[in-house]
Amino acid sequence: MATVETDYYRILGLERGASDADIKRAFRKLAQQWHPDVNTSDEAHERFKAINEAYQVLSDPQRRQAYDLFGRAGVDGSAGAGPFGEAGFAGFGGFGDIFDAFFGGAAGATGTRRGRPPAGSDLRYDLRITFDEAIHGADKEIEFTALGRCETCGGDGAAPGTEATTCPQCGGRGEVRSVRQTMLGQMVNVATCPRCRGEGRIVESPCPTCRGDGRTERKRTLRVTIPPGIEDGHQIRLSNEGEPGPRGGPPGSLYVAVHVAPHPSLTREGTELFYELRIGLAQAALGTTVRVPTVDGEEEVEIKPGTQPGTELRLRGRGAPHLRRANVRGDLHVTVDVAVPTKLDKAQRDALEAYAAATGETVSDAGGLLGRFGKGKKRG
Ligand code: ZN
Repeated sequence: MATVETDYYRILGLERGASDADIKRAFRKLAQQWHPDVNTSDEAHERFKAINEAYQVLSDPQRRQAYDLFGRAGVDGSAGAGPFGEAGFAGFGGFGDIFDAFFGGAAGATGTRRGRPPAGSDLRYDLRITFDEAIHGADKEIEFTALGRCETCGGDGAAPGTEATTCPQCGGRGEVRSVRQTMLGQMVNVATCPRCRGEGRIVESPCPTCRGDGRTERKRTLRVTIPPGIEDGHQIRLSNEGEPGPRGGPPGSLYVAVHVAPHPSLTREGTELFYELRIGLAQAALGTTVRVPTVDGEEEVEIKPGTQPGTELRLRGRGAPHLRRANVRGDLHVTVDVAVPTKLDKAQRDALEAYAAATGETVSDAGGLLGRFGKGKKRG
């Protein structure tokens, strides 16, 4: 049997950055191809369900984002049971419902799958990156110790030279049926096979290295690609890089939790970056050119004469990249703060007093005493 595709994008034959129109188009095409009314192959039921499920998630911006970041864990709570087909999906939602009724519902699609070993656990790795790496993306190598496939037995838990064999009690199905006659008629009871614990296979001579588990603890090294625009708290899911299941069971996912170090002078909200620029009184009044830090290096910014405190200048495209939309970047918002001097020397005071005289502003001349003899002295 072919392995079951679990990635929603790949189910629809799409790349991660696919547009909403692409998703819709791919879904329509595949739904027509795999709809059980027209496709009588054995896999049509499962394929159609998978296609439907993938579309439900990827066509909903919020759920799509959750899926991009957390994988199925981000959307699982509502997958299958959620109010599918509500928002903007009236036609196809009903389609799926009718389909389920016709085929006797989701029997077999939920619950633990019998006849195979259990899946491995998901793993979490905390990765610290710089502000700059979050903006521009990076390739990071991570190293950790976790359970991996046993090298002696290749993971199936059977000693070298032997093989795991089909469970004789359930014939590899992982479940046993018993039929009873009752007053109401025949009752069929289905239970997990006690001999193979539902796995369908048994190991008669366990591997000496892993004692039949199929896994040993070992050091692993992985490359993680940090996409440009990632934010603090995001997780990157690497499917199949988690712990392998025992006795050859499918592996879990590895979740890389990203922690972004703060920038010394820039702050970030989504794709937008913010910088607070302090300029002098005279610079604000007369205008100037200043250098502003950006994630692409320093940039010259013109301050127009008469710039007011709180003025926001916007450096377009100098923000963070959009995580999913290629070539879309936010802006850098520069808020101008005008510094009012708190200490003046004689020349500065004279200049300001001359300025006040010229504009006719009334100023306190006692300020001179405070300025010269220090703060905290009150005028008598
Ligand atoms: Zn082994």
